Amino acid sequence: MTAPSNDAGRNWAGNITFRAARRHRPSTVDELRTVMADAEHIRAIGTAHSFNRIADSTGDLVSVAGLRPSIAIDAKAATVTVGGAVRYGDLASHLYAAGYALHNLGSLPHISIAGAVATGTHGSGDRNGNLATAVRALRMVTADGDLVTLRRGEAGFDGAVVALGLLGVVVDVTLAIEPAFEVRQFVFERLPWSRLVESFDEILRDAYSTSLFTSWSGPVVDQVWRKKRTDEPAPPGGDWFGAVPATGPLHPIRSMPADNCTAQLGAPGPWHERLPHFRLEFTPSAGDELQSEFLVPREHAVAALTAVDGIRDRIAPVLQISELRSVAADELWLSPSYRRETIGIHFTWIPDTAAVLPVVAAVEEVLAPFAPRPHWGKIFTTPLDAVAARYERWDDFQRLAATYDPGGKLRSQYDAWQSG
Ligand SMILES: Cc1cc2nc3c(=O)[nH]c(=O)nc-3n(C[C@H](O)[C@H](O)[C@H](O)COP(=O)(O)OP(=O)(O)OC[C@H]3O[C@@H](n4cnc5c(N)ncnc54)[C@H](O)[C@@H]3O)c2cc1C
Repeated sequence: MTAPSNDAGRNWAGNITFRAARRHRPSTVDELRTVMADAEHIRAIGTAHSFNRIADSTGDLVSVAGLRPSIAIDAKAATVTVGGAVRYGDLASHLYAAGYALHNLGSLPHISIAGAVATGTHGSGDRNGNLATAVRALRMVTADGDLVTLRRGEAGFDGAVVALGLLGVVVDVTLAIEPAFEVRQFVFERLPWSRLVESFDEILRDAYSTSLFTSWSGPVVDQVWRKKRTDEPAPPGGDWFGAVPATGPLHPIRSMPADNCTAQLGAPGPWHERLPHFRLEFTPSAGDELQSEFLVPREHAVAALTAVDGIRDRIAPVLQISELRSVAADELWLSPSYRRETIGIHFTWIPDTAAVLPVVAAVEEVLAPFAPRPHWGKIFTTPLDAVAARYERWDDFQRLAATYDPGGKLRSQYDAWQSG
């Protein structure tokens, strides 16, 4: 198995050209320690799927994809320890073959584990925490080249998981696993907006993982993807809250081919071939796009959606599709779901930064009363100090960062990276 990384000069979407003067791909942990100790300014990079400059550096960039990509299952502890550069898709097939699962996955299996955990990447499901909540331990090389292991329950662990790459370079991660399970995916079309706002909680809680896709262009939500475990009852036939079952497989952007999407129409299949929307061997999403996402407290979901719907005329010209998902609250200091049940309001934009940024700002303005936490790896324009004020443990995180990186080697370009 390989652990791919992005060694190109650009991120996945192509909107960011990395400014790094030097790139490193050490093949041993000792080499990585030397790279870290010698660097003046350095950042880690995963598979470069973020849409902003969070993984950029004007000094050095380092990837752990050259390290041996190990996967070690500990059945007794119900954990797997995996190299930070391994992609979720590769880990997932290995786990499934051994009879295990992770609790959830994001919409795509192409991203590296360390990179996804660092930004609090999430899937959906009222009872599912983001992917970082599965972390039980991590091993990282800190700014001065020290190799540090942090385990859940230890001081600082809750600050070190969703850490935006600011504490050190993660070599491997230990994740909680559970017995493998199967999932059926049922897609419904044209959910009336009125039914969504009336029965929001019921609709979201219906399945293990639910995603709603909307183009904010009319009185309906375009599609609802209901991902039900086979140990949950299958939906009875017919309409559901006024939405109708899809008659064939669909892409969330209706005009795009469904071939790159995971199987639908209720066909049971392995957890890792149903929880993501997109298949590992195909380009995920639209491919030519920008993304933003704002995570708001669950109790304000309907008010927040109504506020966004109020500027739909501004959104529609630069939008490909929006996705709404739920995420369970957690204890990770910089997680957008820290201590709050959350609704993610996501936007897949057209690939035109100049046209998109003013609309992102308009969305942030209407969402401001709900204290949205932007997805760390997507485009936002809110200044970092305003975002920081939405995180109760921000100052604790800064103290933790100063412990592991006293000279600010990893934090040096830590400003104005959010809009690309
Ligand atoms: C098509 C598409 C679909 C997406 N779908 C979802 C989704 O469903 N849900 C969601 O929440 N997000 C989603 N995202 C966003 C994506 O999950 C995040 O941007 C994620 O962080 C990308 O992981 P990466 O490995 O590419 O990280 P990168 O973009 O390479 O890096 C992200 C951060 O991780 C840090 N990092 C990387 N490797 C290490 C390491 N070894 N040690 C320490 N820090 C490290 C970097 O320094 C940086 O701060 C999507 C993105 C795309 C392109």
